Amino acid sequence: MQQFAVIGGGISGLSHAYYIARKFPEAKITVFEPGSPGGNIATEIHDGVLLEPGPDSYLDRTGLFNSMVAELGLKDKLLFEDKRSAKRYVLKDGYLVSAPKSPLGLITTSLLFFPEKIRIFLAMGKKFSLWPTITLFDAARNILGFSAAEYLASPFARGVYGSEAEDLEFSSMFPDLFRKITESPKLKVALKQYAREKREFWQAELGDVTFEKGIYSFEGGLITWVNALRESLKARGIEIVCDKIARIGRDNDGRIILSSKAKSYPAVDRVVFTSGTADLSYVFREFDKELSRKVAELVYSPINVVYSCWNKKEFSAAGYGFLAPRKERAPILGTIFASNVFKGRAADDRFLTKTMISGDSELFKDAELGSLTEESLARIFKVRAKPLWNKVYRHSPGIPRYAPGYGEWKREIQAMVQKHEGVHFAGWAFSGIGLADQLESAYMYAKTLKA
Ligand SMILES: Cc1cc2nc3c(=O)[nH]c(=O)nc-3n(C[C@H](O)[C@H](O)[C@H](O)COP(=O)(O)OP(=O)(O)OC[C@H]3O[C@@H](n4cnc5c(N)ncnc54)[C@H](O)[C@@H]3O)c2cc1C
Repeated sequence: MQQFAVIGGGISGLSHAYYIARKFPEAKITVFEPGSPGGNIATEIHDGVLLEPGPDSYLDRTGLFNSMVAELGLKDKLLFEDKRSAKRYVLKDGYLVSAPKSPLGLITTSLLFFPEKIRIFLAMGKKFSLWPTITLFDAARNILGFSAAEYLASPFARGVYGSEAEDLEFSSMFPDLFRKITESPKLKVALKQYAREKREFWQAELGDVTFEKGIYSFEGGLITWVNALRESLKARGIEIVCDKIARIGRDNDGRIILSSKAKSYPAVDRVVFTSGTADLSYVFREFDKELSRKVAELVYSPINVVYSCWNKKEFSAAGYGFLAPRKERAPILGTIFASNVFKGRAADDRFLTKTMISGDSELFKDAELGSLTEESLARIFKVRAKPLWNKVYRHSPGIPRYAPGYGEWKREIQAMVQKHEGVHFAGWAFSGIGLADQLESAYMYAKTLKA
């Protein structure tokens, strides 16, 4: 019987435990988590309103999430994005402009000028040779043109990664797409093959799972999913131990020994680390000094979240929300109109916004972040309303930054980790930035495991 340890009870750690147990029902699996299981997922209720300080939705493009939800018996609690929130906006010259939702939308959007739309059309028939460290901004500019870099790549980078498009490595954000683009004779072929291969792979894996592509949450927020996962792990005999792992070593038989400051745990055959890189670096400080140093090099983008609750009579807006490109010089990254997206998040007479602000959280007081949000929204929407309250959350160190050089860094880490049999690194520092990346990487890890 194989023995596994999973370090970290965020969504990556819980999903790793889940898929390992599904593949090896007999395996002994222990998850270590010193805080609340869920990690960044930390739904809470404030003044009768549901708040998600971290992630608020899961974008399902493969069906993997929906199949897990069905297995967990959670379908009746699942919420799909409200159709009324379908429109996403980008700030351009101080105004909100509808963002394209599909390649066809690039033709109709007023974010791009007519000659740039022609350029995109022509680009589809061309071959592109991109260098591996090209930034997202330069990749978008080379392929789609300058306005697309400014008004599509930049807001996307800021909204999803909390970073500027100039500070992100395209090949690390979209490794499979990058490979396809550089290998294919035409961009059009690359995009088609990329979409087809992904679709076919997941269809073969999951069978006939029916689902709608889009964003999901649950009644009670994303923590409902975490709680169901915990219950399912418990039912399979998987223990979540409330402790922080501080050291890794080997016993005389070469098996992996993990210990916290207080105690040592029984040896395991395999360990999956899903903690952030500062914690990883600390755990490996004696076991492998070089790896410990290398892992600590990853840079993060600190991010602050400001929830504001408004009296709907004084301020509300339609759609999903908007993102602010760097060019607009707005102090905020963007705002989600949270009460529009999923039903029941706030009372009918309230309007709830979730605004993201980048930067070192220590520099600003809560009230300053609240004022920054109010002033920004007042300028964009030309309203004078004051919110009933603001609630501020700080994410520090923040979002792992896939900066130019990240791909090389990750390859070096993987080479070092390979020397340590049974050790695997996952979580958003290594597996991609979104919730979907964590689920997919957990699924793939279990798939590659041999009995
Ligand atoms: C503000 C914000 C909004 C976001 N919105 C979305 C969204 O809407 N949709 C989306 O798809 N993604 C979103 N994301 C990204 C999403 O949150 C991440 O993909 C996901 O939470 C990463 O999960 P994880 O398990 O890798 O890390 P974490 O959630 O950080 O979990 C790691 C866990 O490891 C534990 N740990 C650390 N050290 C140790 C140790 N030594 N021993 C044991 N345990 C340890 C920690 O306590 C923690 O619980 C958002 C992120 C942020 C910050």
